[in-house]
Amino acid sequence: MKGAIQMAAGFSAGMTSANQTSSGSSLQSNSKSVTAVIPMPIQIVIDDVGWWSGHDGSQQQEPYRTGITRNHVPEDYEAIVRLGRSLGIRPQAAMILCEWDRTNILRKLPTSTWMGSNWDNKKWVGPWLDRAAETIRNNSAHFEVTMHGIGHEYWTDGKFTRAEWADSKGTMRPLDQVEAHLDSFEILMNQNQLGPMPTSFVPTAFLHGFGPTNGHKESLAEILSRRGITYINTPFENMHNRAAVGHGVFGFDAGVITIDRGQDLLEWKDIGKTPVGELHGPTCGMHWPNLLHPNPERNSEIVDSWVHFLQPFDNAIDTVLAVNSEFFRTQLVHHVCTQLMLTDDSLQLDFTKVDSLPSPPSHEDLTLKVRSPYRLHFSPDSIKVVSDVSAEEEKRYQYTLGLRRIPGRKESELKFSLQA
Ligand SMILES: [Zn+2]
Repeated sequence: MKGAIQMAAGFSAGMTSANQTSSGSSLQSNSKSVTAVIPMPIQIVIDDVGWWSGHDGSQQQEPYRTGITRNHVPEDYEAIVRLGRSLGIRPQAAMILCEWDRTNILRKLPTSTWMGSNWDNKKWVGPWLDRAAETIRNNSAHFEVTMHGIGHEYWTDGKFTRAEWADSKGTMRPLDQVEAHLDSFEILMNQNQLGPMPTSFVPTAFLHGFGPTNGHKESLAEILSRRGITYINTPFENMHNRAAVGHGVFGFDAGVITIDRGQDLLEWKDIGKTPVGELHGPTCGMHWPNLLHPNPERNSEIVDSWVHFLQPFDNAIDTVLAVNSEFFRTQLVHHVCTQLMLTDDSLQLDFTKVDSLPSPPSHEDLTLKVRSPYRLHFSPDSIKVVSDVSAEEEKRYQYTLGLRRIPGRKESELKFSLQA
């Protein structure tokens, strides 16, 4: 659906007003009533994908899991793909992998599960693993495996504390344990042929420190970056050392972009619910059950209600659905840091601030949206237009322009003329 002309859904979507005024590109207008903006990207992040049991075991020193009253099934993975395919996007599935352990490797890592060195996962080894793995592998354009963890919490002497990567104050777990958990995550990815190691990470229980935490020389981000992680998504509200974040909704920790998840739309245990309300920022975070139905055969009803809820954000002037997390990171950086100036016959872009970031985006593309009472003809100068989608609604024209920077150019211009 993304990229198609969407007239029926209209040019607006529900964002909180607080967010519209948050740091970032605001709508520019000129004397001809043309308006333009570098829209805020929206990325979907789904947590706690990977459990086979839905049971909230927190009262028995087992993980919280997803807290639903049925087990998870391969159809629950297909729900994520359906969401991605319907919207033309790649949702991030933040995965927990202990219940994918086919050979009980986690016996060697007692802090990772509630059974410690007696870990036995035979209950969850079955054909559903292959079915779900195949769904993930065959639909990589609509399913991004994101690292979440092994067992979600951290066990010592049969009892857990929250959470796997950091304690309740956001202090990172001992370095040797962090490295061992990362090694095990990679082994479980390979055991199940879930594809290459993820490049994105969501900390479990959102317990995370920005920068090095108490007694550690390195931050978790720095350790993760050696494993190929380039992007962390977590709510800043409870992140340790959040004051050090430099750019509002994002910051760089050892070069790894860390993006605010903000607040989810639905409650943790909501299942079978139609989403309503407003998004609070660039991340549309949800818990896996929020996308599902108690009867998995009816998952598609809930997925389709999310599609209906999210599509207007792609049509709105000031937001755009991120096609994948690379687009998301790049567009968010441009939304916040690129200066846009609109004159009566041109759009001018200044990338100086973007290029001075600790890790400027590797990607050269950004999206611009322009609305006008007249048809417009664009003549790019010092920037390339790689895609151009227009929609018309009540004699207003809206253009979504995919732009590609010319490497090395800090300023670019896009001239336009009005056509009656
Ligand atoms: Zn989680």
